[in-house]
Amino acid sequence: MTSTTADLAAITGIDVPTGLFIGGEWTKGRSGGLIGVTDPATGEIIAEVADGTAEDALDAVGAAHAALPGWAATPPRERGECLRRAWALMMERSEAIARLMVLENGKALPDARGEATYSAEFFRWYAEEAVRLEGALMTAPSGANRILVQRQPVGVSVLITPWNFPAAMATRKIGPALAAGCTVVLKPAKETPLTALVVADILREAGVPDGVVNVVTTSSASRFSGAVLGDPRVRKLSFTGSTEVGRVLLKAAADQVINCSMELGGNAPFLIFEDADIKAALDGAFVAKMRNGGEACTAANRFYVHEAVADEFTSAFAARLAALKVGPGLEEGTELGPLVNEDTRSKVASLVDEAVAAGSKVVTGGAVPDRPGYFYEPTVLDHVPSGAGILHEEIFGPVAPIVRFTDEADAVRWANDTEYGLVSYVYTSDLRRSLRVAEALEAGMIGINRGVVSDPAAPFGGVKQSGLGREGGHDGLLEFTETKYIAVEW
Ligand code: NAD
Repeated sequence: MTSTTADLAAITGIDVPTGLFIGGEWTKGRSGGLIGVTDPATGEIIAEVADGTAEDALDAVGAAHAALPGWAATPPRERGECLRRAWALMMERSEAIARLMVLENGKALPDARGEATYSAEFFRWYAEEAVRLEGALMTAPSGANRILVQRQPVGVSVLITPWNFPAAMATRKIGPALAAGCTVVLKPAKETPLTALVVADILREAGVPDGVVNVVTTSSASRFSGAVLGDPRVRKLSFTGSTEVGRVLLKAAADQVINCSMELGGNAPFLIFEDADIKAALDGAFVAKMRNGGEACTAANRFYVHEAVADEFTSAFAARLAALKVGPGLEEGTELGPLVNEDTRSKVASLVDEAVAAGSKVVTGGAVPDRPGYFYEPTVLDHVPSGAGILHEEIFGPVAPIVRFTDEADAVRWANDTEYGLVSYVYTSDLRRSLRVAEALEAGMIGINRGVVSDPAAPFGGVKQSGLGREGGHDGLLEFTETKYIAVEW
């Protein structure tokens, strides 16, 4: 079953699979049930994909388990070459993948094009990393023997991904897993299953053997996780999503003591000091806030701006957001698309309403526009009081709350006043200050005079309740390995 609605093929120029991908076969699944995929710009169903059951999930685990010995024994160079071919195919089809992501996620086409290239890059990076799994050999301190340390694939890996980056969150996990010699079962978010299915089809075409990559789409995420996390053949869970669901999965993984990597929510502070280059800060703030329409775990969630530059920054930032062309992501010139669904939009709207009721000043936006689809106006709020929920919860929308400060210590203290710790941004032209503040901020990643930190070659991840482990870079490869120590006497 690789067919899909004719419209999708016409808009993207590729065939988009809609079945489950298990053991190298496309299947309707055991129940034959279907899940509708909605275009957030219109609220209309654009495709239906198979609704996987618990038995389908276990079939996928079985396929991954059967393929594991062969894939783990495949020479690293060959594993890398598969990923390299997958990178080339993704680049060849990047426009189609971008258009598909617009349709199922709602993001504007320029954002989707950026993600298509970024997501492919994980395959190229891990094609190169597949041949760099180093071990160690040393003499024991006593001199009696040698200590040999080897990295082995952790085993069958379950990958669960969110809807906000439908391609990149899949490739950021599949790339290192395959490079390390693991086989995988991917469960994409039900809002955006189509992109994951296209990625699986590309890996098949790139020569990845049957069973190494399996994809199960489902309307019931807990039915899926309940089945796979109870199966002792599963040895790894790599999850990206909300902290709330991450906690549930960590508990569920405890029964089989499954190795977990968790990329969870964020609440990124964006600090602008009085000595910052304001033009650069505006550019950085714009990308940190508006990339993906604000639906990013790295999105700047709170702006702490020094009183001396706050008026200048706030009015220029508001003007920039107000000028954005809002519309369906595929429409010519669109810069900001809709949010992914009604729940997400109503959460954004209620956070703004509550902040305004608490005394925040609306500089621009602040309302739901009168049009079909799940749109929200680009919004800037000034003088947001410290207790407002919008400073403490992930907004996940095009809304920028601004808080003014005069003292560096206050700014750092307020920035750290959250259970999250994914990323923080600092704008200043004082090198000593930038490093001092970067060291004091409780986050896994810091952007200094830069509004984007994501890079396939860098270790991405959070501290505190933003997660466990890292994705990307060499660290991302090690997450899919176990350390084996061999004591040798010769
Ligand atoms: P979510 O936690 O609701 O869902 C993420 C995935 O988990 C989806 O596939 C969903 O179906 C699945 N899921 C939900 N409940 C489950 C359960 N009980 N068992 C198994 N799977 C379950 O998150 P979302 O709304 O899709 O994505 C947004 C969140 O993801 C935000 O909090 C964002 O910060 C986070 N995120 C983090 C990163 C990162 O790298 N740290 C990257 C992107 C998104």
